[in-house]
Amino acid sequence: MKTDVIVLGAGIVGVSTALHLQARGREVALVDRGPPGGGTSYGNAGLIERSSVVPYAFPRALTLLLRYALNRSSAVRYDLRDLLHVAPFLMRYWFHSSPRNLQTAARAMLPLIEASVTEHDQLIEAAGASDLVRSKGWIAAFKTPRRFAAAVAEAETTAPLGLRMTVIDAAGFGALEPSMRTGTGGVSGAIHWLDPKTVTDPGELTKRYALLFEKRGGRILTGDAASLAQSDTGWSVDTNEGALAARDVVVALGPQSGLVFQRLGYRIPLAIKRGYHRHYRLPDGVDLHHSVVDEEAGYVLAPMRQGVRLTTGVEFAHADRPVATGQIDQAERLARRLLSLGEPVEATPWLGRRPCLPDMRPVIGAAPRHKGLWFNFGHAHHGLTVGPASGRLLAELLTGETPFVDPAPYEAQRFH
Ligand SMILES: Cc1cc2nc3c(=O)[nH]c(=O)nc-3n(C[C@H](O)[C@H](O)[C@H](O)COP(=O)(O)OP(=O)(O)OC[C@H]3O[C@@H](n4cnc5c(N)ncnc54)[C@H](O)[C@@H]3O)c2cc1C
Repeated sequence: MKTDVIVLGAGIVGVSTALHLQARGREVALVDRGPPGGGTSYGNAGLIERSSVVPYAFPRALTLLLRYALNRSSAVRYDLRDLLHVAPFLMRYWFHSSPRNLQTAARAMLPLIEASVTEHDQLIEAAGASDLVRSKGWIAAFKTPRRFAAAVAEAETTAPLGLRMTVIDAAGFGALEPSMRTGTGGVSGAIHWLDPKTVTDPGELTKRYALLFEKRGGRILTGDAASLAQSDTGWSVDTNEGALAARDVVVALGPQSGLVFQRLGYRIPLAIKRGYHRHYRLPDGVDLHHSVVDEEAGYVLAPMRQGVRLTTGVEFAHADRPVATGQIDQAERLARRLLSLGEPVEATPWLGRRPCLPDMRPVIGAAPRHKGLWFNFGHAHHGLTVGPASGRLLAELLTGETPFVDPAPYEAQRFH
């Protein structure tokens, strides 16, 4: 079998890349070991985070570091046994999180974040997926007035970017979310970000985009990216329908991308930030109308098709360690103080792996030393958000079009 481009990985990044290549006249095959949208793209918090213009940095405030060091927070946890394993990444991440370097990272991500909603909107419409998307923004909620005031001051610094938001007091929040606790022990104030959209089933959204790709003539095949091999004319991979050859191949394997680039000799410091989710049924008379982020505890409550999805912050541990329930149990305890969650839907929480680079931006573009090899991975906390914009950029680079944003900040070359 032959095609123009093989895209390895059918998460939100790979599927979006395939659609954008197809729209530029390329014959494309998507290859995944499982069905589309079954990886990290299945389990995220569903925020198309148009308002998150500063990436998640390594904390530099001593008080915060000490709190995380205690290893009891629902925002950040670590497995002591793996600290040596993650230390090299953490050191580089810390370096890139200095105020100056963080500004550089924010500037680098901004064009992709700015394009996020418009790029999704086009795909949502074409894929007939508007039933999965809400346009009500999301709410950042605060319990302590001091943290609330600091967050409002910080949010106001984004005014030049034209982001729409409203600052609401406890009563205003209570009006939007009557089932959630306000006042003492509850939410004292909130910021309602209005530009972002939210998705009620991110895995299903990725599937709908994949169906659109198929409807437009694309092929989706089952295969293991580990079988990728270079030939005189390009690349080939084994699939359930036989060997598939193409001149170009795109690595969009999210957290598993190292499987290909390491074997080809690239030393890209891709690491994993683990995170959990679990769904809960709401008792009669209890409702959640918006996605609410408890900014002080670091978890999200998102109304999803499966129930209310509670997602945790970050866990630093080896990718293959089994599920550790401490972090999500802690998030659940804290969430129950704000909202009367019913029984969990699943017996065990879902574990996901965010693919992260220490300088807080993905790798998008040509592999420096292999003709026809392209990279599109490392979207960290914002893969759902920027997947379609990132797919567009990669497709423009591969087909020789003028890219809609400067690709320099995302080049793999920066690590060599
Ligand atoms: C708890 C949590 C909450 C999050 N919340 C948000 C959010 O609200 N908003 C946001 O924008 N982002 C969020 N994210 C991040 C986002 O989910 C990721 O950045 C994004 O899903 C990465 O997409 P991807 O396509 O690169 O990877 P994936 O979705 O993981 O796709 C990679 C694909 O590669 C395939 N694959 C792997 N190995 C092989 C192999 N050997 N052969 C063939 N195929 C293979 C997998 O099956 C998978 O389908 C969150 C992440 C987590 C964990």
